[in-house]
Formats: sequence, C-alpha cells, structure tokens
Amino acid sequence: MVTRRPNAVIGISIVLAGAILAIAVALLAQMRMDALRRAQDAIFNVSLLVERDVSRNLEIYDLSLRAVIDGLKQPGVLELPPQIRQMVLFDGSISAKDMGSVFVLDEHGDVRFDSREWPPRPAHLADRDFFTAQRDAPDRGLYISHPFSPSGKEEDLRIALSRRIARPDGGFGGVVVGTLRLTYFHRLFDGMKLGPSGSMALMLSDGTMLMRRPYEAKTIGINLTGTANFSRFVQRPSGDFYGTAAIDHVERWYAFRHIDIYPLILDVALSTNDIYIEWRRRAWIIGTLIAALDVTIITLAILFAQQLRRRRAAEEELRELARTDGLTGLNNRRAFEEHLNAEWRRAQRNDRPLSVLLIDVDNFKGFNDLYGHSAGDEALVGVGRCIAQNVRRPGDTAARYGGEEFAVLLPDTDAAGALQIGEQIRAAVQALQCRHVASAHHVLTVSVGVATAQGAGFASSRALVDAADHALYRAKDAGRNRVLADEEAVDAADGGEAADRALSTPDTEGRTR
Ligand code: GH3
Ligand code: MG
Ligand code: MG
Repeated sequence: MVTRRPNAVIGISIVLAGAILAIAVALLAQMRMDALRRAQDAIFNVSLLVERDVSRNLEIYDLSLRAVIDGLKQPGVLELPPQIRQMVLFDGSISAKDMGSVFVLDEHGDVRFDSREWPPRPAHLADRDFFTAQRDAPDRGLYISHPFSPSGKEEDLRIALSRRIARPDGGFGGVVVGTLRLTYFHRLFDGMKLGPSGSMALMLSDGTMLMRRPYEAKTIGINLTGTANFSRFVQRPSGDFYGTAAIDHVERWYAFRHIDIYPLILDVALSTNDIYIEWRRRAWIIGTLIAALDVTIITLAILFAQQLRRRRAAEEELRELARTDGLTGLNNRRAFEEHLNAEWRRAQRNDRPLSVLLIDVDNFKGFNDLYGHSAGDEALVGVGRCIAQNVRRPGDTAARYGGEEFAVLLPDTDAAGALQIGEQIRAAVQALQCRHVASAHHVLTVSVGVATAQGAGFASSRALVDAADHALYRAKDAGRNRVLADEEAVDAADGGEAADRALSTPDTEGRTR
C-alpha cells in the first residue's frame, strides 16, 4: 500500500506535478501557436485588402492612359476645337483625388497636351525616367516611376505612370503620363489595424521604397536591394516569414505579395512583441499558478511522507517495546517464544543443534525479604547484564522469562557449548559479589538448566524448554549455584559425561521453585 511507503508518496506527487507542468507547457505552446496563426491570418488579410485596392486603382488609371492613347489615334481628334478635344482625350475618371494631371509628351519630351489646361504649360521632361523608360523599351507597357516631388515639397511626393505612344509605323511617338500622390498609399496604410509596432511597405520591384508605415519622409525613395527581407520578397510572388527590418531592426512576421501584374511589392508585418504580448501575460499568470500548485503538491507530499515516517518509527518503537522487558532491556517472554519457534524450525530443517538455557536466581524470595523489592529489581538488572554479556553471537537470544527467571536460546550450539555458556553466566553472577546473607554462598547466585536438541531428540520446542526446566529443577535440587544439563539429551549427545561437567558448590537448602 502506498501509504506505507513515504518515498512512493513523494514519487507520485512529483509525477503528478510533472504531469500538470507538462499539460500547462503543452497548453501554452498551443496558445502561442494560436497567437501566431491569428497574426498570420491578420497580416494576410490586410495585405490582400491593400493589394486589391492598389491594383484596382492602378487598373483604372492605366485604362485612362490607354483611353488617351486610343483617343490620339482617332482620326480628326487633333483637329477638334481645343475644349472638345480635351474632353475627348481626358475623360473625368482620372481627375480623382490623389491623381494629378495627365500629360501627353511628344517624342522629344515636350508637353503637347495637359488634361487640366489648354494651352499646356511648356515643359521639357525628356530626362525623366517615365520618358526614357518608354523611349528605350518599346514593349515596356505601363511604367511606374521612382517617387518625385514636382514642387520639392514632401506632401507633393508622387509617382508617375506612363505608357508609350506608338506611331503608325511602330516608331516612338512620345508618352502619356499621369501622376499619383503617395498620400493615397499613406492614407490606405493608416486605415489598417496593425498593432503599435506593425509595419507596411510598398516597394517598386527594383527595391525603391514608395511608402512605409510607420511613415518617415526620409525612407521614401531609398533602395532596399540587398537587405535580407527584400531578397526574400523577390524570390516568390507571395509568402510569409519571420525577419528583422533593416530600417528599424524590429523583429516581425511578414506577409508579402507582388501586386497583380504591376512591378510593385507589398509587405505587411506584425511585430513579434505585439503578437505575443497577450500570450506572454497569460503565460506568466498560468506559469505562476502552475508553479504554486506544483510546489504545494510536492510540499504536502513531503509533509505527508514525514508524518508517515514518524508513524512508522513510532510503530517500530512500539513493536520493539512490546518485545522488550522493561526492567532488564532483554527480550521479553513473548519475543523469546517467537525466536524459539523460528530457530526450532530452522534447526529441524538444517539438522543443526539448538540449545536452551533456563536460569533462575537462587533464594530470591529471601533476597527480597532481606534487602527489599527495589534492591531485588537492581539485582535482576545485574543478572540480566551478566547474561547479555555472555550471549553475544548473532542469532543468540537472551530473555527475561518471567519473575526472576531468564532464558537463553543458542542456535547452532551443541550441549558442550551450551554448558560452557551456562557456566560463564553462573560464574559472572557469582562474581558480582552481590551480598546475600540468607544464601549458603553468601552472594547472589543462579542455577542453570541446559537442554540441547540435536537430531530427533525432542518432539517440539516446548519439550526442549521443559527439558531445560527439568535440568534446572535438578540443579536446584543438587544444591543451587550450578549448571546441569538435561540427562537424556546429554546422554544422547556425549554419553552422560556432560552431566559431570556441572560446576557447582553443593548447597544444602531445599528447592523452593
Ligand atoms: P529458589 O532458589 O528455589 O529459586 O528460591 P526462590 O526464593 O528464588 O524461589 P522462587 O523462584 O519460587 O521465588 C521467586 C521469587 O522471586 C518471588 C518473588 O519474591 C521474587 N520475584 C519474582 N519476580 C520479581 C521481580 O520482578 N522483582 C523482585 N524484586 N522480586 C521478584
Ligand atoms: Mg528462584
Ligand atoms: Mg523462580
């Protein structure tokens, strides 16, 4: 049973605490992944939304530029009165907010038509990228220029969109160009929810920055070619990844996409800090609670185990007390009987000798009467010590058998050995020189009865003790202060000579046992 094993209680509590910890860790890992997934969904959606808006506006703008080119091709358009020609060439759609004038430039870069004015303001734009790009590459299609500010002011920054005008023979006939203010992208970006450290950027596919959130004027127009993030943007039409911005060194999750057919790349990113801020707060709370729970579980288990240990120790002590004689500290009769039965079975099984000594203090009634009961008790303690000092081999058992009688169990000891131990005990008690004037020996003495079981000599352990008792009776009878072996057993063991080994000072008193 677990409650009997303190270490098992602690072990189980540690396993339980570990399991709770493992569940919490798994849960937190799951929550962290969920937070990232939500962020990935959010940046994906924002990038899709922005891409749609940008590509739709560019498409409308491009259609307007194409309409101008188509208009120029119409026979007779150039001969129309200026006001009507303006209306035919530039329909209303391109006068939308953020969109500037549309110009028609001739092949030398001079303005032929201006959507907002007639006659147009004279201007020579042959050196602009939107002009040279179209002039030098007949198949360019729609060209999106680098950002520029006609007035030099930051709020006037814009990009130009140009298309080539082909002459009937296919030669270069100038360009149609319109402008789009970057404030359009600025407003579009600001309308999106991206967290305090989120970022968005729109770049030309050659790496030129067109607009970035958070907005900083100095980042407009810089070239990002060669930065780690931009290198990844150009590898695939769309995707997401974890990276650090070259501009502000913030770690973010990026979603990027190339805008439709245009040479534009959009990225939307949420900072890892924003993504995990809520998760981190929860992880702290859950982590602290789990740690407290685990510490509590283990502490309770340790306390419980301590109690169990204490209880076990108390039980052990009680058991020991129940087997010990209070006065002499020797085994009590009950413990002796247990040892006797165990050793009896072992001796029978292994065919080994087993000896029993019964020791009785001589004339003890008289000692008590003379010196008092407490002096008698002290004398018994002395006798007990004499016995214990001579019974030392492992497996030997010395016990107070009752009153002033003691018993000794000597496994693996034959009759001769047992007689020798008995004699040592007798001599030791006599050597105490404990005055006993009523005794014929003048000091306290003991008589010892010895019985040894070897082979099939005795039917039971009881018979063996009875034989020792009988020998003791004979020792008393023979005058006390002597050691006598049980006759029959001794006869069986060494032909009756052992009985003569009884060392004694014959005594004339009668037996009172
Ligand atoms: P014998 O030599 O024949 O044994 O004589 P005895 O006087 O010792 O006779 P018996 O064995 O019958 O006497 C037992 C006496 O031992 C009775 C009692 O006065 C005394 N006695 C028994 N147990 C105790 C004890 O625990 N303390 C003390 N002080 N005396 C005890
Ligand atoms: Mg006695
Ligand atoms: Mg007695």
